[in-house]
Amino acid sequence: MRIGIGYDIHRLKAGRELFLGGVLIPYPKVLLGHSDGDVLLHALTDAVLGALAAGDIGDHFSDQELRWKGAASEKFAAPVLALLKKKRMCILNIDTVLLMEKPKLQPHKQAIKKSVAKIFKVPESLVSIKAKTHEGLDAISRGQAIACHATVLIGKV
Ligand code: MG
Repeated sequence: MRIGIGYDIHRLKAGRELFLGGVLIPYPKVLLGHSDGDVLLHALTDAVLGALAAGDIGDHFSDQELRWKGAASEKFAAPVLALLKKKRMCILNIDTVLLMEKPKLQPHKQAIKKSVAKIFKVPESLVSIKAKTHEGLDAISRGQAIACHATVLIGKV
């Protein structure tokens, strides 16, 4: 077995189309990024790459490349899953913690869990989606950013 961690943070600005775990969340802000800024999928993609000791998301999907501009972040999963398959490994479980003040994640947790399971091709029972606020301490608390930690355990098929 091998374990990987991932972390990401993106700024929020006025707009629409806030994507978390591939799910469109109704909220009057958007995550800034070269792609759609989906911090959860970015952290998770990095965690899988970390478990494989295969570099990071920037090595594989450069923000200098036009083809990733505005891309749906679920597009990052397929090449990473292909790498996993090549090494004859599979995902054993996924755990995540979103750091965000608003919107409240509770009503969207189930949809995000379902979406992440679909994108990373694992049963929903292997996916954990959690959220915390930053207790009024910083930019995350002021609603200026959303961050995410992710951990992935992989094992031989
Ligand atoms: Mg990112």
